[in-house]
Amino acid sequence: MNRTGLVWNERFMWHDTGNMFGPPAMQRFIQPLPHPERPETKRRIKNLLDVSGLADKMIAVEPRTATDAELLRFHTEAYVRRVRETSALGGGQLAKRFGATPIAQGGFDIAALAAGGAIELCDAVLDGKLDNGYALVRPPGHHARPDEAMGFCIFGNVAIAGRHLLEARGLERIAVVDWDAHHGNGTQEAFWSDPRALTLSIHQDGCYPPDSGALTDIGDGPGRGFNINIPLPPGSGNGAYRASFERVVLPALRAFRPQFILVASGLDAGAQDPLARMMVTSSGYRVMARELISVANELCGGRLAAIHEGGYSESYVPFICMAVIEELLGFRSEVEDPFAGLGSQPYQDLQPQQSDVISAAEQVMRAAPFFAAAA
Ligand SMILES: [Zn+2]
Repeated sequence: MNRTGLVWNERFMWHDTGNMFGPPAMQRFIQPLPHPERPETKRRIKNLLDVSGLADKMIAVEPRTATDAELLRFHTEAYVRRVRETSALGGGQLAKRFGATPIAQGGFDIAALAAGGAIELCDAVLDGKLDNGYALVRPPGHHARPDEAMGFCIFGNVAIAGRHLLEARGLERIAVVDWDAHHGNGTQEAFWSDPRALTLSIHQDGCYPPDSGALTDIGDGPGRGFNINIPLPPGSGNGAYRASFERVVLPALRAFRPQFILVASGLDAGAQDPLARMMVTSSGYRVMARELISVANELCGGRLAAIHEGGYSESYVPFICMAVIEELLGFRSEVEDPFAGLGSQPYQDLQPQQSDVISAAEQVMRAAPFFAAAA
């Protein structure tokens, strides 16, 4: 069994996103719902890890607050100040566009704790205290831009952890695999012109953010070719994700030879998610996790850290997350996925329109400088 770390802190659950009222024109007509990025999904993951006994097999990693210097490796000073002030003044709406990213009183410290938790996990893996790990942090991070909150994300946890590995820990090559159903635009932006980071995102084409995550977005300057997007059509399931891994993600990683693999672990490509339209099951995520662990063993001594991102189905996400964590641990609990039947529904297999996108992403990969150099 692996020494697998779990970053968790009760305070992650206290990041309060409140209710979501919808656009002003609708506010008179429809009862508000709790914000989709609410604590419950994440709390239910932790509960399942506890009750199943998996948490006892993991090594607790206590998160710490990221310092301003660490946040500033990705964010602007003005943005960090604005988040801090909004939090101190009782909270408010941080995002200017594309939906609501609220922060409540005290939210700054919790967001900085999430970023610091990601850093702590990476440090523990790099220092050999752990084989790998999962940071069950909140708020998520992969949509956050240097100067803009977006998509429920305040600080770019993966971007900040990646910069830490490169700039504070002296690594020369890291890879980010983003399997959240939404495009990892913030992580892409963090390493847009940086050839030290290979960023890969598999997402639902055009889902979120708008006009983001195209095949043609490949990075720029010295980082040109080091960003690969796989924008799959809605309805993609286990077959499409498996093919994306076999034809793009794994060969790209083998050619790039990262010293550390970060996973932006959004679980909203799950078949019951309210905020995306994909069909992946826990066994689909399990296969992806297994393949990544195997390629990490092959390339970088198994060094892999998964940082939690989206995932909004309170019923299904805990089982998906457990499958990923079981693979990290190399231990199977007695818990069965009660929704496993979703995996035998029609259209789970790779469909032609999905294969076309993967073929196009393969072409992007083959044209990348690191791929040609490795061939
Ligand atoms: Zn997402």
